[in-house]
Amino acid sequence: MNKIIQKAKTGHELSKSEIVELLKDDSINQELFKAADDVRHEFVGDEVHLRALIEFSNICRCHCKYCGLRAENTNVSRYRLNKEEILDFAQKAVGYGYKTIVMQSGEDPFFTANYLCEIVRDIKKLDVALTLSIGERPREEYEKLKNAGVDRFLIRIETTDENLYKEMHPQASLEKRKQCLYDLKELGYETGSGCLVGLPNQTLESLADDILFFKKLDADMIGIGPFIPHQDTPLKDVPHGSFELALKVMAIVRLLLPDINIPATTAMETLNPNGRIIALQSGANVVMPNVTEGDYRKKYEIYPGKICINDTPAKCRGCIGGKIASIGRTISTEKGFRVRPLSLNPSPAGRGKINIAKALRKKMTPQETKLWVYLRANRLGKTKFKRQYPIGKYIVDFVSIKNMLVLELDGGGHTIEQHKKYDKERDEYLKSRGFKVLRFWNNEIDKNIDGVIEKIMEYLR
Ligand code: SF4
Repeated sequence: MNKIIQKAKTGHELSKSEIVELLKDDSINQELFKAADDVRHEFVGDEVHLRALIEFSNICRCHCKYCGLRAENTNVSRYRLNKEEILDFAQKAVGYGYKTIVMQSGEDPFFTANYLCEIVRDIKKLDVALTLSIGERPREEYEKLKNAGVDRFLIRIETTDENLYKEMHPQASLEKRKQCLYDLKELGYETGSGCLVGLPNQTLESLADDILFFKKLDADMIGIGPFIPHQDTPLKDVPHGSFELALKVMAIVRLLLPDINIPATTAMETLNPNGRIIALQSGANVVMPNVTEGDYRKKYEIYPGKICINDTPAKCRGCIGGKIASIGRTISTEKGFRVRPLSLNPSPAGRGKINIAKALRKKMTPQETKLWVYLRANRLGKTKFKRQYPIGKYIVDFVSIKNMLVLELDGGGHTIEQHKKYDKERDEYLKSRGFKVLRFWNNEIDKNIDGVIEKIMEYLR
């Protein structure tokens, strides 16, 4: 195997020059895609997460030179959905089985943070994960929206090359964009970003910088799209980006950030009729079908040639479901949050948590030790359990990632009011991440271990 690919596959680190070397050399493409697919299989499994996309406003105050929705484009028929329409599409999406709703719009000031919070609270009643993609906002607004229940936030940086950023985004600032991403991370969002591949004057070095930026940010989701020129923009005569190069950037992102969510973007399918499936076989694990109905799909034309604009959400769901099944993958029935394996050493904070987890494993209580005898080595229903495992801000006693099941053992201290409140918050957090939590008292483990095992088995069945 190519040495750089091997290094990335095992250590998930590469230097800028190594990334550039991979991007330059097309003789290694198939090996690179296969390695990314292996890493995807190892870290996030074979399930594909579907995210239902609602494009709720195509009104935008920005001037991004590559985008058909830019403020200057008077050929667009502009629209805004109201709260009821958004909720209607979200409800229908839940009916089709989606577990995540993605609300996307241009930068439309009509949707104030307070108005968005109202919509968010109603959508969250549907028991779904919610992603926003609405562009740059002040930190206080991100905070408000987080408190209202938004789980994830997407804000693509498109390029980290300062000159190119300026050229592509008149009146905008790369620093401000980065600050938005840092704020979102700090506020606890699952934070998504991404870049465009094939912008004019973009170099392989600058793409390598983009990838390293995502790594440094420790982004939770990364979407990579080839640039496609829109007829009503200043870039109308620029040739489109390369599908293959976009795929390579995506595959390298998978190798360096093995446990994140990576969508097979629709722009890839615009350039290649089988683009999303090829992407799913080269590191991607997410697809975002559009559930906006009627003419709105056509009107949300960031780039031309968008796929499926005349299809109904039901048809899209069936179509992508069939394609996913055809490559032996399944559609996830979970919300699909990022779950970081212990084997990765993400950040100083994460490392701290991992060290605590390791220390806890050495000092298991007698009840934990007793239960672990039943759980270890896939003994219980052939299910793999891990012990003292960090999930977000908590370390849980036992978890089966595949079944999204957390087992917690409680001693007498858990009857104290303050502790009860902590347990409740903890359970709600885990639930919001898609986990089911089963709690057992220590004395149940001591006196009725068979009953405990039966309850766990009941859930697994
Ligand atoms: S890319 Fe987004 S922010 Fe930029 S003009 Fe298009 S819709 Fe607006």
